[in-house]
Amino acid sequence: MFSLSNIIRHHILTLTPYASARDEYTGKEGIFLDANENPFGAVIEGNYNRYPDPYQWAIKEKLAVIKGVRLGQIFLGNGSDEAIDLLIRATCEPKEDNIIIMPPTYGMYKVCADIQNTPVQQVPLTPDFQMNVDAVLAAINSHTKLIWVCSPNNPSGNLIKREAIIQVLDNFKTGFVVVDEAYIDFTEAESFTQLLDTYPNLVVLQTFSKAWGLAALRFGMAFASEDLIKILNKIKYPYNLNSATQSLILEALGNEDKKNAYVAHILQARATLEAMLQEVALVKKIYPSDSNQLLVKFDDAKGVFKYLIDKKIITRDRSNVQLCEGCIRISIGTDTENASLVEALKAY
Ligand SMILES: *Cc1c(COP(=O)(O)O)cnc(C)c1O
Repeated sequence: MFSLSNIIRHHILTLTPYASARDEYTGKEGIFLDANENPFGAVIEGNYNRYPDPYQWAIKEKLAVIKGVRLGQIFLGNGSDEAIDLLIRATCEPKEDNIIIMPPTYGMYKVCADIQNTPVQQVPLTPDFQMNVDAVLAAINSHTKLIWVCSPNNPSGNLIKREAIIQVLDNFKTGFVVVDEAYIDFTEAESFTQLLDTYPNLVVLQTFSKAWGLAALRFGMAFASEDLIKILNKIKYPYNLNSATQSLILEALGNEDKKNAYVAHILQARATLEAMLQEVALVKKIYPSDSNQLLVKFDDAKGVFKYLIDKKIITRDRSNVQLCEGCIRISIGTDTENASLVEALKAY
């Protein structure tokens, strides 16, 4: 049976969090002499002299509608990287509890675990980058707290089969299954956020760093049960999202059409790039992608990677990564950038 209090570290359950000035008085009107701010204003234009809303309610109200979730099911962080870090800190007793990841995958799950001295069990994806469900279920032990599924996966770019994720959700009730949907905007696939009420053991991560084009603002989302969101709020830095980010994200939420137009363009550019790469003799294989990245296998990947850098074209060398031998990861650029890449490859 699923029980949040058996999964969260005991001292976190009983911890008294920092109570900020903005927690103790939530009204908007008044003479604010409670937070030692500068009453005259900021030294630049803008109302930056006041601390921001610690719970970012204005953003959450809009996001709840867009995402079809309740306000209390949303955690907002300084990039989804913040949520990755907090999830491990909330659940894993250092050196004792473990997480399961499925390489090749996003590097931050392991880095955050390593920082916290949390053992990482690695259950590789299959050669076609799908989950090995039996091996994942077999790796679970009484100290496993988190299973990380990246879908669409980075660096392979493909969606993980929905039934595989459901099978893990059905069979792992002593921790959380975290589905990282950083690239969900590039697919037609339904988000796992729609299953939050069915699975209290589910956490979904999304970000504004990719399709929305706002990597510089550092804005990520975690969706989960109200009980888990309360825990994350308890252990985050009180003002984890600054006012500039909050107001710019609010503005961005009014421009969803523009995000959708970018996505359409990127998908079209991906198809064109794939077709052009097929014509390049060096290219041995292009893996199917459901995101804005293409994993491409080359003759002499290292040589190609270095040659491209000399041409000031920067890609990501993944040739030392398990199951990605000989591969370079290429982010989809503008049409001109992609054409320059292909031209350079043809001249190699
Ligand atoms: C890019 C990426 C993120 C985004 O992280 P942010 O901290 O929100 O920028 C998260 N997960 C995966 C798999 C990614 O590739």
